Amino acid sequence: MTITPLMPVYPRCGVRPVRGEGVYLYGEDGTQYLDFAAGIAVNALGHGHPALTKAIADQAATLMHVSNLYGSPQGEALAQRLVDLTFADTVFFTNSGAEAVECAIKTARRYHHANGNPERHTLITFKNAFHGRTLGAISATDQAKMRDGFEPLLPGFAYAQFNDLEGALALIDANTAGFLVEPIQGEGGLATATPEFLQGLRKACDEHGLLLVLDEVQAGYGRTGKFFAHEHYGIVPDVMAVAKGIGGGFPLGACLATEEAAKGMVIGTHGSTYGGNPLAMAAGQAVLDVIQGEGFLDHVTTMGDRLRASLEQMIPNHDHLFQEVRGKGLMLGLKLKTDSRRFVAFLRDEHQLLTVSAGDNVVRVLPPLVIDESHVAEFTQKLSDAARVYVPASDD
Ligand code: PMP
Repeated sequence: MTITPLMPVYPRCGVRPVRGEGVYLYGEDGTQYLDFAAGIAVNALGHGHPALTKAIADQAATLMHVSNLYGSPQGEALAQRLVDLTFADTVFFTNSGAEAVECAIKTARRYHHANGNPERHTLITFKNAFHGRTLGAISATDQAKMRDGFEPLLPGFAYAQFNDLEGALALIDANTAGFLVEPIQGEGGLATATPEFLQGLRKACDEHGLLLVLDEVQAGYGRTGKFFAHEHYGIVPDVMAVAKGIGGGFPLGACLATEEAAKGMVIGTHGSTYGGNPLAMAAGQAVLDVIQGEGFLDHVTTMGDRLRASLEQMIPNHDHLFQEVRGKGLMLGLKLKTDSRRFVAFLRDEHQLLTVSAGDNVVRVLPPLVIDESHVAEFTQKLSDAARVYVPASDD
């Protein structure tokens, strides 16, 4: 491969969007795409949402950036809203999901350090998880394709099978700090935690003095029809990483923690030049206004149910290709009987429909949360048109 000005870590793709409006993206040549990928669960409000773009423009004209050294009324205001709405007592703002995960890992380590147990540094994480591409995050991610050639990785992680409670508990030893887990594995193909599994991890944390760290970077912020996915399980974490939907497209993430779990995160222990700057906070406030607006989460649930029902109805007509529907709310996956990367490319190039593949054979369906019934109908039509004519490769 020859080098390109943009480091060539992503495959080249024919879609080169230059404009977005609502649930649609427009390519350089004007081609319209129905965007059921939403920047991988980022554009929760779709493209060009007037309240979000206005909030960013107004803030940019007022004060774009100032160092966290000078205090942050904008950060305090958004953090207070998140604290009021969640289990958390305190928030650290970041620029991405991986940084939110890094902050969560550091918070867990510092908690045990502050308790006089620095040997309790190991987080138990799960197969097929995805936590980001920084060194700490890939160390937490037990996937060779993301780790090869980056060794030595960060020590202090142990790996269990997702949804195998007994296997996870068997790994607890004198060095265990807690668990780091996605309630629904996004990149891992929409594997959804069972209630027994997440509730069992919570119970084990309480019994052994461990921390439950949730990665809700993809599943959080309204995507599953609850503000956070763990609300489906009747449990709360001690620490949680959030990103993607929180900024609606503005690069923003957050690490939320209880007062107890954050006891080690004192002055000087962590920081970020940009994290929580006024522009990011303006975006965060505008997104939260919409997500917390009356009926919004119910709308996500209703649209999720419709979309799921449409997908399930389609399976018998295309059972050579489709296998099952997974996920919750508008975080859905369609498991194929064949390679999903090729099918996702076919949907994109031949039917102007944007989705994302996960694992080897799951098509992720992650539309903006503001879709309406007409978008569900359009998606369903395009998908079934595509499935009718699609010919899987013989080696898929
Ligand atoms: N955690 C999860 C669950 C994710 O899905 C992702 C991104 N797909 C990340 C962490 C990393 O987020 P970012 O790419 O913003 O660093």
